[in-house]
Amino acid sequence: MAPDTAPQSLATQRAETKPLTIKRIDAIPIAIPLKKPVIMAGVRLEISYNLLVRVEAANGLVGWGEASVAPTMTGDVLPGMVAAVNEHLAPLMIGKDALKRAELAHICAHALHHNGGPKCAVDAAIADLAGRHLKVSLSDMYGGALRDSITAMYLLGNPKIEDDIAETHKKIAEGYKFFKLKVGIKNPFDEADAAVAIRRAIGRDVVLCADANMGMSFRDARIFVERTREADLLFLEQPLRDDDFDGMAELARISPIPLNGDESLGNVATIIQMARAGSIQGANLKTIKLGGVSATVHAMSVCGALGLNINLACKVAETSVGAATIIHMGCVAPNVNWGVSITNHYLVDDIVKNPIVISNGMMTRPTGAGHGVEVDEAQVARYKTK
Ligand SMILES: [Mg+2]
Repeated sequence: MAPDTAPQSLATQRAETKPLTIKRIDAIPIAIPLKKPVIMAGVRLEISYNLLVRVEAANGLVGWGEASVAPTMTGDVLPGMVAAVNEHLAPLMIGKDALKRAELAHICAHALHHNGGPKCAVDAAIADLAGRHLKVSLSDMYGGALRDSITAMYLLGNPKIEDDIAETHKKIAEGYKFFKLKVGIKNPFDEADAAVAIRRAIGRDVVLCADANMGMSFRDARIFVERTREADLLFLEQPLRDDDFDGMAELARISPIPLNGDESLGNVATIIQMARAGSIQGANLKTIKLGGVSATVHAMSVCGALGLNINLACKVAETSVGAATIIHMGCVAPNVNWGVSITNHYLVDDIVKNPIVISNGMMTRPTGAGHGVEVDEAQVARYKTK
């Protein structure tokens, strides 16, 4: 019999982990112009206003997180996001151990109602910091990657249908295979005709879906889904107002196209509620809505259990920090059948030394620790705003 004093095997030894103490948190508002305006229901975007959060540990390591403003989605606007971090979240995080990130995410989640953007930027920055300290990637920290590359979704939002078709042809030549058409802007007859025209122009081998960003009435949505059968849309996203749960359930009963939820889905309880009502067959998950990386991973598991298709998306437009974060989530997700969209390529510039690139319509998981992109602080200073 082995003596009681036998040394522990390596497998049973506890890792020695000293605290990774958070010394400082900076909330940095930035403004970066878009290459061209993006038009969606009720919104015309020409400049992207984002919050960067820089978390510095006592050992000098730094982690970065990002969240875009989203006045019509989360209600987050830049001055409020900065105040939420500086006055509410940062004081609760300073001096804490970043390795206890689940506990810290729980504290942030309950410190403020809503404010998904600022919570997201803080949570993502702490996760990035912890990953760099542990020398593992975000996807390895959150369950491990099921895939190393993902098909990129491209957003179509030109004022004229001819421009959408021309842009689609150009992007197909670059390797894109998945497009999301922004609708809910013009009348539903014209928008249905446009969707059918795009389908005819691009053929059957390319995925096409549509996002109305809450811009349709029930009547508009009914006309659109009935007249777009030939467009073979993968789904129609958020046609109705975010709080029109009865309307979404009624539309789902008559629609030949599956429905995706976005603005309605700010938390897991609502995802479950809408799935049980039969209102949605998929969920658009954004870290800014759910309030962070941990919350998004949790929501992805719930979607998987409910049999919902998953669509992961950055808000238009986040830099490579947000893009890298969402790619890691996409590699961990149980399924991403309804697409993943990153948005850094809509910006005229980026704030990292190794920007995320889409190659042949695919995005590859960054291999470095944390989110895997290296922030250029000179670029951050260049685009800093008030
Ligand atoms: Mg959407």
